[in-house]
Amino acid sequence: MSRLNDLLQQAGGIGRNPDGSITRLGFSEGYFQAAALLRQKMEELGLETEMDPVGNLHGVLPGTDPEAKSIVLGSHIDTVIQGGVYDGMLGVTGAIEVAARLKDEGRKLRHNLEIWGFNMEESSILGGTFGSRCVVGMVDPDAPGYPERLAKFDCSPDKVRAARRDTGRYGCYLEYHIEQGDKLDNAGIDVGVVSGIVSVIRYDVTAKGQSNHAGTTMMVNRRDALVGMSKLIVAAEEDARRLSDTLVFTVGKMQVLPGQENVIPGEVKATFEMRHMDKAVTDRFYDDIRQMAAGIPNCDFEFVPTVAKYSTPCDERLVKLIDGVCGEMGISHVVMPSGAGHDANPMAHEGVPMGMIFAPSAGGISHHGAEYTEPRHVDMGAEVLYRTVLKLDQGEL
Ligand SMILES: [Zn+2]
Repeated sequence: MSRLNDLLQQAGGIGRNPDGSITRLGFSEGYFQAAALLRQKMEELGLETEMDPVGNLHGVLPGTDPEAKSIVLGSHIDTVIQGGVYDGMLGVTGAIEVAARLKDEGRKLRHNLEIWGFNMEESSILGGTFGSRCVVGMVDPDAPGYPERLAKFDCSPDKVRAARRDTGRYGCYLEYHIEQGDKLDNAGIDVGVVSGIVSVIRYDVTAKGQSNHAGTTMMVNRRDALVGMSKLIVAAEEDARRLSDTLVFTVGKMQVLPGQENVIPGEVKATFEMRHMDKAVTDRFYDDIRQMAAGIPNCDFEFVPTVAKYSTPCDERLVKLIDGVCGEMGISHVVMPSGAGHDANPMAHEGVPMGMIFAPSAGGISHHGAEYTEPRHVDMGAEVLYRTVLKLDQGEL
């Protein structure tokens, strides 16, 4: 097994459950144990390391030009409950492998190479991508109720403020991550060159009809809100398939009122979630849904927008650069959007040019103990990352 696969299994295996899955939540004992191991590896490679006030691991390999901006590599150290070895840890260990390769080859970069192992990227009461949002200053630690939630992790608004970095010093941010979907694995493609991170748009949708006796109300007289909502969901699902093969639509939550077996549902509340790279597509889809809703009989619909996180494009130059590296290596690759959010979001949000490299997830499985990426794919993506760093260092940044 390669050095990288070794470290990935060792660090990624921390927090293992009896069923083989991994639980290494942010701020947990396992989290800090994994961070300590990674820190030790970084120090062996000559990086200056620290654990920042909110539990992010940070390492710097100083470059020869103190004026040059940093090349920043990172991902997250935490997992979900009963997650896998690869999600997040692939990118942190992959970044350490880049430093190790530099040492092997006796190369000194002109730019500082900075490595971040972020804390609590997975969703929690502190919100997703907590660690990276602290670094770029996107967390409002004084928001109502937030100091109390921070205290649960022995954290505080002062620590959040102290974790903020000057991202003006960052020339770019690269994240190596598993795809977490099945596109690469299905197509037998070795590497994904990420074009951007798709939007997440959500609406609370309410269908209003009329509750009535389930035995005495004839079909012709019914205003059944659940039937209306069902028609809308089926129509929207078909429309999503038609509009774009990368548009996804999910109704993950629904409430039927009054919720009794002998009463016709008078009201149904559901969450409509859509994700795509292109705002024009989600806008068009929402218009379609509104129009279809207006055509459904015996039911009135209400739409309230709740989440509108628009897509985050990767830096075009980095996409081209990574794409070119894959081409040079002669490996199969495809430019594709990321369906999941990552620490790369906050970085790009604060204006740091951002690029991502995906390794295939076997069977498209992630956030699960069965998460798996073939060792050869683990190494291949890291090689892409390494070559990309060298090119960035040699070119303009
Ligand atoms: Zn992740």
